[in-house]
Amino acid sequence: MAETSCFSWTKLNSTIYRIVQEDSLGDLPFIYVKVYPTLLLLVDTGSGPNHCKDPTVSEKSIRSFIEKNLAAEGRLLTAEGEKKQWLIFITHTHYDHIGGMFEFPEADIFVSGYSKDYVLNDLGCNSLCCVVGIPTPKFEVYHWLEQNEKLVYKGVDLKIEALLTPGHTPDEIALYDEEEKVFFSGDSAYEIVPIYMIETSDIPDFAKSLDFMLEYVQKKNSELAPTGQRVTTAAGHVTDKADTEKLIAELKDCFYDLLKGKCTLTKQEIMRGKNVLTYMNATKNVGYLCIDAKLKEGIKQFGYEWEVPLPLAADAPAKIFD
Ligand SMILES: [Zn+2]
Repeated sequence: MAETSCFSWTKLNSTIYRIVQEDSLGDLPFIYVKVYPTLLLLVDTGSGPNHCKDPTVSEKSIRSFIEKNLAAEGRLLTAEGEKKQWLIFITHTHYDHIGGMFEFPEADIFVSGYSKDYVLNDLGCNSLCCVVGIPTPKFEVYHWLEQNEKLVYKGVDLKIEALLTPGHTPDEIALYDEEEKVFFSGDSAYEIVPIYMIETSDIPDFAKSLDFMLEYVQKKNSELAPTGQRVTTAAGHVTDKADTEKLIAELKDCFYDLLKGKCTLTKQEIMRGKNVLTYMNATKNVGYLCIDAKLKEGIKQFGYEWEVPLPLAADAPAKIFD
């Protein structure tokens, strides 16, 4: 019988592969593996094997899926035929990024050092694992990442720089791959689907991170200008090649339009008992999904004044506006 799988496999460039999990919660998390001669670097792990959209598929394990594909390309083992060491970078500890971690018990795990407290205390609720019914992974952090840290692992230069980008969550990070000019943006920047400003989010922190990311990528692009290359985005969802500078600039415009009350409301719903509003920019390329309390707080913090729509009745269906 032909094998069926919860995942798809795409080569992004000479060292990075993108995996998409077709999950039961509809998040379609993107997972990336970067191949080194002696290491395999994983960016996120998806929602885990119990959350495939089709529970009858034969391949549900992210680890065995990656290992089979790398073996087929002759890249799973070192030149000496030995196992490569797994490193896992968690862009943030939401359930759809950490659900597959337990499949890599020997991996060394890298997490943002911005708010250790957030990761170490109440991960079950912070990750939303308790809300969606995913068992909260237990793991030990090998290394807490620092701002602008250039990463070397046991003498191997990873050619990766860590960026702490709190906002969507306190532990959100981005990673810049110097070799491939790829910006792993996690859930801070992607297209079409709104960026979530939810229980774990902080609007002023996100504003600072937008500035920080934009400045960082502008600098990289100006250094790259003589080569004609530009930095591209590998996000936690949807986006795997968009021009990073353009995308973050668009998100920044939309963010301030949102706070000023100039963005278009496209959807209103009750989610986890809260009034949730989705606003998109004019082209509907970028937008934000906000819990009303977060949005109200942000509007006030930035000195604007307008009333966000009142909640729908608790049992009302979502309202879609066109
Ligand atoms: Zn997230």
